[in-house]
Amino acid sequence: MAPPRMSVCKSFSSLFKGSSLKFGKSWVSNQHRRGLYDVIIVGGGMVGSALACALGSDSKLQDKKILVLEAGDKVKLEENLGLYSNRVSTISPGSQNLLENIGAWKHIENMRAKSFRRMQVWDACGDGYVTFEGSDDLQHEVVMGHVVENNVLVKALELQLEELKSKIDVLYKTKLKEIQIPWDNENCNWIEIALEDGQTLSTRLLVGADGHNSFTRKQADVECITYDYKQNGVVATLGISETTDNNVAWQRFLPNGPIALLPLTTNKSSLVWSTTTEEAMKLVSLPERQFVETLNEALTGDLENNSISRMASHLMHNAISTIQPDYLGLQMPPKIEYVEENSLASFPLGLNQASYYVKHRLALIGDAAHRIHPLAGQGVNLGFSDVQCLVKELRLAAVDGQDIGSLEHLLKYETARQREVTLMMAATHGLNSLFSTSFIPLVVLRNLGFQLTNALNPLKKQIVQYAMK
Ligand SMILES: Cc1cc2nc3c(=O)[nH]c(=O)nc-3n(C[C@H](O)[C@H](O)[C@H](O)COP(=O)(O)OP(=O)(O)OC[C@H]3O[C@@H](n4cnc5c(N)ncnc54)[C@H](O)[C@@H]3O)c2cc1C
Repeated sequence: MAPPRMSVCKSFSSLFKGSSLKFGKSWVSNQHRRGLYDVIIVGGGMVGSALACALGSDSKLQDKKILVLEAGDKVKLEENLGLYSNRVSTISPGSQNLLENIGAWKHIENMRAKSFRRMQVWDACGDGYVTFEGSDDLQHEVVMGHVVENNVLVKALELQLEELKSKIDVLYKTKLKEIQIPWDNENCNWIEIALEDGQTLSTRLLVGADGHNSFTRKQADVECITYDYKQNGVVATLGISETTDNNVAWQRFLPNGPIALLPLTTNKSSLVWSTTTEEAMKLVSLPERQFVETLNEALTGDLENNSISRMASHLMHNAISTIQPDYLGLQMPPKIEYVEENSLASFPLGLNQASYYVKHRLALIGDAAHRIHPLAGQGVNLGFSDVQCLVKELRLAAVDGQDIGSLEHLLKYETARQREVTLMMAATHGLNSLFSTSFIPLVVLRNLGFQLTNALNPLKKQIVQYAMK
């Protein structure tokens, strides 16, 4: 039996106090309800749309009526896709697998995505670095992941939702306005929601996939731990000086935060530069030439490199090279030539962890449940893992003839996901803190840690396997 959970019920009068909506009796009376759904998903971004496609393509959930509410419009892409978007995600092989299973990956392949086979992570304050390569059981090199523009991903999911339109309704330009959650766990009442256009709907399960400022989470009174990194992620589409395979994802740790170059084509890469809010504001206001110079300096310059750390790293490097003659040295990323017009922008970075991911008839997924630092490129991948886990639990409930909105099996989703998310959150938060310092003992220690990790193949293999999940 599931433990009791705090539930939310606001009186109708207080719900609509000050609202221009005139629900009166219609909120409580079935005869005025416009729709009843098994699952309503609030937010048709990458994670919410993936959940809808996953539910719609699951053979055990075929009789379920699903609705997606998306505040924005459909993604508009030019015929030839035009310029690259500055918002991209690194998609792990595990996430690719989900997208293949729900029929969205074929649309991505028809549009565009760039694979990468290697990652190099290194420290600007020393000579420490680690390279990661994906390999299969036969030690063949394999793809470690793909860089996909967020709007291409959402478009692919929209196209798949159209293929599933007999099972899934999607309302674009539609915002959730109010939620009423039933009093207690035993009560079989459904959740009722009001939309900004005045419609009211009922559902067995309401899923909040409405991003890190989740309105659903706030309406359901789910508390959330938040942390402001006082950093911004500066993003841009970059032209690189030479045409190469461009199949390496680069990340250099600078004292103000990590800078990452993610491949887009043989001569374009995407930038995610996490830095203090102050520096980010300065960077985005620089003239293009000056920005490119600053960027090349940040990627390859001898910044804050101190002699003690360098000496310790050299000694370690020499020792490891003697034991492992094939030990690869530090590689340099490609030189940046230009920034694509209008692609330079910046986004605030923060951490959120909802104290509950579920309540009776309610589940939170993606950034609505958790938001992490982008340095590991895992945010949306965690969201896709939420989708896989939630669908598995809903399928089990449906097969057992249970109510898919009941807390009992939703709690299994919460337990499994909070366990994994907390680990990833701690790792990204810890790495960001460890590298945001020039304190010499820590700089020496982390550089030695990098060298050791790089030399220990079994450890590296485990890290790669985890990142590729
Ligand atoms: C600079 C930066 C770089 C990043 N890089 C990576 C990366 O490389 N790899 C990675 O895995 N992750 C990355 N992330 C994280 C990733 O972008 C997020 O984890 C991901 O966007 C979360 O997806 P989501 O669908 O949960 O939320 P969102 O993308 O925020 O989508 C939420 C959707 O809900 C809709 N919505 C909101 N409110 C309402 C409402 N009231 N009613 C109806 N609809 C509503 C919105 O319109 C939106 O479409 C990065 C983040 C940043 C800031």
